[in-house]
Amino acid sequence: MEAYVCLCRLVYQREELYSEIHQCSMPEDMARPLIRDRGEAGGSRHLEASMSDAPVVGIVGTGDFSRSLARRLVSSGYQVVVGSRNPKRSAALFPEEAEVTSQMEAAGQADLVFVAVFPEHHSTLLELKPSLAGKTLVDVSNSLRINPDGPSNAEQLADLFPESDVVKGFNTISAWALQRGPRDGSRQIFLCSNSSKAKSSVMQLCRRLGFIPVDMGLLSSSLEIENLPLYLFPSWRTPILCTLFLFIFFYLYNFLRDVLQPYVTARKSVFYKMPIEMVNVTLPSVALVMLALVYLPGLCAAFLQLWSGTKYNRFPGWLDRWLSSRKQFGLCSFLCAAMHAIYSLSLPMRKSARFKLLLAVKQMKEGDEVWVNEEVWRMELYVSAGIMALGLLSLLAVTSLPSVANSVNWREFSFIQSTVGYCALSMATVHTLLYGWGRAFDPAQYRFMMPPTFALVLVLPSVALLGRLALFMPCVARRLAQIRRGSEKSRHIRFRLPDDDCRNGLEDVSNV
Ligand code: NAP
Repeated sequence: MEAYVCLCRLVYQREELYSEIHQCSMPEDMARPLIRDRGEAGGSRHLEASMSDAPVVGIVGTGDFSRSLARRLVSSGYQVVVGSRNPKRSAALFPEEAEVTSQMEAAGQADLVFVAVFPEHHSTLLELKPSLAGKTLVDVSNSLRINPDGPSNAEQLADLFPESDVVKGFNTISAWALQRGPRDGSRQIFLCSNSSKAKSSVMQLCRRLGFIPVDMGLLSSSLEIENLPLYLFPSWRTPILCTLFLFIFFYLYNFLRDVLQPYVTARKSVFYKMPIEMVNVTLPSVALVMLALVYLPGLCAAFLQLWSGTKYNRFPGWLDRWLSSRKQFGLCSFLCAAMHAIYSLSLPMRKSARFKLLLAVKQMKEGDEVWVNEEVWRMELYVSAGIMALGLLSLLAVTSLPSVANSVNWREFSFIQSTVGYCALSMATVHTLLYGWGRAFDPAQYRFMMPPTFALVLVLPSVALLGRLALFMPCVARRLAQIRRGSEKSRHIRFRLPDDDCRNGLEDVSNV
């Protein structure tokens, strides 16, 4: 074997000398690719002289993941030995610097072996057991669907190879991200193992590859790590469903009032309003209700604490879930508001808007008032409040980005999310009120006995704003502050003079 490696080194040095002579006019780093693809001699081992001291890492399996990992390891200075059931067939797919050999030989050469094989085939590796004893096995496998109860693939692998130290990790990184390196995709790699030595050696490897290892503790966490890539926006499900439900509800509501009612009562066809006008009335309705839904759970929590007189009672599950998805509710609201702004800007571009304008001009009689001061003021204030609300919402959306949130302290973050957030809610409410103006009192607006949409939309924001005002009242604010500092209604300590009785002057009046 030694003689073979020496021969390879000689061949390699000769090749290098040859390429230097032929490419002397080109800078060396440009002339030589970072990772060379295997040439005609596929299957043989070519170790660079400078790499001979590098740690040897084994990979069992020659699929997509294995190929990307091998490239990444080679470019980070590792010697790579890949184990395949059919080395000849797979060798051409790997960089020249990686050795592609039998599974048994790969397992024998490396102290750290990646198992890049689907978990269904883990049992076919049992014959490697003696060669893998005392070594570190990295299980990179994922399951097809979420496994809520376990055991995880890594735990099953640990049962199959009890004499090896199994580390779970790298399963949350795609083969593509692995090949591209940490420039693209997630930089974090979640790791867990029952052997701290094995885990720290894999953590070191992660850092050398340019990733950030995240220690998730013992192998019992492997189930959570395996389920991580299978979740489909778990925290977004309720906010997205809520947004969709509100959109459909308001769209149908507007359709009944603004399109169907004129058609049924006066045979007037205004179906052209459906693609733009109706969507543009629906979007702000959804945005405002969703924004109110960001602040309502906080108010519910505060009033629950005031009512129970303690902060140590657990909130009901629905409130807990609602509180933890406020950011997603806010971002959905921002999306609807931004789309409303774009739709509004496009309104004058439509043919229908131009025809309507021409019609209005045509129908005007001499002496008709063109400039209605009240309407002008209403529109100016309405647009201005809308722009301000959108600006504040954008600020909230930007600060909810993890990189921005990490650059502000907790006080600054809660100032933006709470104070600026309530300002955005107030502005959006004013914007809607200005849109409504006197229409709420106009009987013609109650088509099919249905109140105008804006009146319906204003219910939840008004509740949120009034609730916030109630919490601002000094007596309520003081009591809430006491509760949040740990005071409890049912656990007062009453102080007495020492001669009252023999209990050191303290009497617990719990549950009185
Ligand atoms: P793949 O392309 O299908 O490769 C699997 C390899 O396993 C085959 O090339 C085969 O190599 C080897 N193997 C060994 N014993 C086998 C057997 N009995 N039957 C079939 N194949 C056997 O799969 P992959 O995408 O590389 O994924 C490999 C593992 O990495 C999986 O557990 C997967 O969950 C995990 N993973 C993949 C990605 C990804 O983006 N692809 C990301 C994260 C995790 P030989 O024929 O040369 O022996």
